[in-house]
Amino acid sequence: MPSSPHSHSFRLTPTDYNALVERATAGPELYWMRESERLSWNTVPTHAQSEQQGWFPGGTLNASVNCLDRHLETRGDQKALIWQAEDAGRVLTFTYKTLHEHVCRIANVLRQQGIQAGDRVAIHLPSVPEGLIAMLACARIGAIHVVLFGGFSPEAIADRLADSGAVLVITANVGRRGPKRIPFKATLDAALDLRPDTLAVNTVLVVGVTDDEIGMKPERDRWLAPLLDKAASDCAPQSMPASAPLFLLYTSGSTGKPKGIVHGTGGYLVWASYTHELVFDHQDGDIFWCTADIGWITGHTYGVYGPLLNGGTVLLFEGMPSYPGPGRWWNVIQDHKVTTFYTSPTAIRALMREGDEVVQRYDLSSLRVLGTVGEPISQEAWSWFNDHVGGGRCAFVDTWWQTESGGIMISPVPGAVREKPASATLPLPGVHPVLLNEQGVPREGATEGVLCLKGSWPGRALSIWNDDGLFERTYLQPYAGYYFTGDGARRDEDGYYWITGRVDDVINVSGHRIGSAEIEDALATEVTIAESAAIGIPHDLKGQGIVVYVVPRDNAPDDLHVRAAKAITSKVGRYAAPERIHVVPDLPKTRSGKSVRRLLRKIACGETEGFGDLSTLADPEIVETLIRIIQTPA
Ligand code: ATP
Ligand code: MG
Repeated sequence: MPSSPHSHSFRLTPTDYNALVERATAGPELYWMRESERLSWNTVPTHAQSEQQGWFPGGTLNASVNCLDRHLETRGDQKALIWQAEDAGRVLTFTYKTLHEHVCRIANVLRQQGIQAGDRVAIHLPSVPEGLIAMLACARIGAIHVVLFGGFSPEAIADRLADSGAVLVITANVGRRGPKRIPFKATLDAALDLRPDTLAVNTVLVVGVTDDEIGMKPERDRWLAPLLDKAASDCAPQSMPASAPLFLLYTSGSTGKPKGIVHGTGGYLVWASYTHELVFDHQDGDIFWCTADIGWITGHTYGVYGPLLNGGTVLLFEGMPSYPGPGRWWNVIQDHKVTTFYTSPTAIRALMREGDEVVQRYDLSSLRVLGTVGEPISQEAWSWFNDHVGGGRCAFVDTWWQTESGGIMISPVPGAVREKPASATLPLPGVHPVLLNEQGVPREGATEGVLCLKGSWPGRALSIWNDDGLFERTYLQPYAGYYFTGDGARRDEDGYYWITGRVDDVINVSGHRIGSAEIEDALATEVTIAESAAIGIPHDLKGQGIVVYVVPRDNAPDDLHVRAAKAITSKVGRYAAPERIHVVPDLPKTRSGKSVRRLLRKIACGETEGFGDLSTLADPEIVETLIRIIQTPA
């Protein structure tokens, strides 16, 4: 395989990489046993994988020891966490030694509050260091953390607290968001009052992020700071079986009700460490910035576990990309000399809208690896990020994975896998994707189909919380013998994968199967369009017809409809000509920034009610706005 055209020296050469692929394929048992040595075990596992007992049976370990204690001797004074506050002048730095002390203190407080191994502890915090620290503190005592995204509504919080059976919640008085204050505690209070009979929460610990006053219920709520002052800075870790749940995390809810995905300890940690090292070419001295909130899986695996397991330095930023000015993220990269920058296509699209001049004002020469995750990225966005942010010098990893996979599955490996713009490229060594036709038969060579995975991998979720049956039905039963990802993909003549979107999003127009991503890619080439979404609606003659929603950039021209239609017919084909094009101010998005096509489909079909749970939306009101636009004759 030809190597990447970059000037950096990367850890792996194409030859090393090919050797890994061969070893992983020829002898998975031996391969994963060797990879398990990246962790420090109390009892070493007897096997890599067993049919009944999952990954690394017999092994016992503690996750926080693996992230912290075992680095103390060699990296005690190295930075483990850099926290950049919203105000540029405020930075907190934690070395491995001080981070260890903070984690132990919160762990001791949790124990004093009666938390035991196996209990669920919810973490509902803004982007402050306490979030990461609380996760590791739970892990230290064997409690299962359930991180709730800070932007959730009381409804969404109550649902997840009820489902997880959390007994304690760690929250903040408020969060900072630009000049605004976000009422964390008040939102949690509202959630706890919604359906009290369904909740097991009896303690709320409150982090004072600012000195804003809030209401406290004396029998339930406690400020964390005074408890920490009294807590010891060392805490004996709880040894856990490899198969014990480390955390529950709810999926983003793009396709419906969020699922409480359960991740185990041994397998998940091996996967986090393995993928972080391989995909981000982790090297000593790297400053790793993952912009995902810790409320999403990306924030778990690459904002916390992966980099710390590998002795890296994590950067955590409290603020937003556009406050106080549009160059804020670039400023953070410049100030902290970030080497590895991992973000989402939706963020890149927003930053692209600000124009190239903004980026050019900053020195981004520290960057070595750029990554994206969460959605297919358009060629336009890929190239903009690569050229303007990466200066054409950086490795670019478009990483495909999902909450359920625990970590990255398909991605370039810097220095070893040649990139193709907007392709997730090749599976990591030990990952075996297959493309199935609708009857479930694997297709060979260059083809397209339903993306499934053959065999297991250490990071695979254990189950869905409270519902093993749902896990089976969702992932294992649709295509017997395979893990079903829910996504579609194309494989080209080089064996590269191109994710085409969710299988549900494939539109079948007169027998032509068109991925919504294909149409959206075409629309992204039209410079006056900021964002778009394509969906299928029933059509008497064609089976399905295409409806397109486009969000214009500022100062969009009057003939946007014409331009949009032309972009599609010229880039995809005449058969993809849409039935209708709606120009809209925004799209309904999950709080992780993904378009919710299930709603767009209903709205396009003229439905005005029965949209189900809208609490995962960033802005539920957009639904009303779109209905109004669709119902108004053009
Ligand atoms: P839900 O399962 O509740 O509908 P979700 O699937 O959006 O929510 P996540 O687990 O956060 O929740 O997202 C995983 C999905 O994101 C993948 O299945 C895929 O559809 C999409 N995705 C992730 N990375 C990429 C990528 N690099 N390219 C294309 N799609 C991606
Ligand atoms: Mg999903």
